[in-house]
Amino acid sequence: MTPIIFSDFDGTITQVDVTDLVLTQLAHPSWREVEQEWARGQIGSRECLERQMALVDASLAEFNALVDSVPVDRNFGKFYKFAQRHSLPFYVVSDGFDLVIRRVLKNAGMNGPLYNGKHLFSSALKVRGRRMEPSFPYAGPPCEHDCATCKAEIIRRTRDNGNPIVFIGDGLSDRFAAQAADIVFAKRQLLTFCRENDIACTPFETFAEIEAKLDPLVKKAAYLAKAKSRRPRLRARKLKVELAV
Ligand SMILES: [Mg+2]
Ligand SMILES: [Zn+2]
Repeated sequence: MTPIIFSDFDGTITQVDVTDLVLTQLAHPSWREVEQEWARGQIGSRECLERQMALVDASLAEFNALVDSVPVDRNFGKFYKFAQRHSLPFYVVSDGFDLVIRRVLKNAGMNGPLYNGKHLFSSALKVRGRRMEPSFPYAGPPCEHDCATCKAEIIRRTRDNGNPIVFIGDGLSDRFAAQAADIVFAKRQLLTFCRENDIACTPFETFAEIEAKLDPLVKKAAYLAKAKSRRPRLRARKLKVELAV
């Protein structure tokens, strides 16, 4: 009964969408036309990002300096420690880029190597000279949505012996993940989408509210696990008594 936590990155862990920031600051303005095609549903997020990142002109140093200016949810670091303390599996799932996510998470206090495919599942990015080279290791198949990263598929693959799946997100690219999860925390467009489509969800503004909601669930799961591990010993003792009689 240990919750497995999946979180979106842009606008959920960060206070702004880093890809939008990169495009606004470092790309040719025609990226907005591509965005419109995506918003109208004409293209999926994978094709959208591929075409938009081709419009970026920046060195790695310029790119990193912009990433370092990104504000993060002020309660995220505390939430991450809460997840670690209770050994809750925590994964970031994002259409955004591993290069960005790793840098922001480490700045926020997450430790370890943060491998794409182990700790996070996202689009990948290499900066060569002033060119961006995106790739999409978790786009599927099978993905019927042309996602850059198919969050729903990653959630389905991670499902095991009935542990509840928690999903935290804020945007339209989170809608398939919200449908695949058991417990949903939503804000902004994802909240609107969940309400319009009768998907049960808890609204949130910061990770402090998520921690407050998950804390009793985690404590209950720990209590049940402890009670379960006690049960066989009780039965063994009773059996011995019967034998003695
Ligand atoms: Mg988002
Ligand atoms: Zn998908």
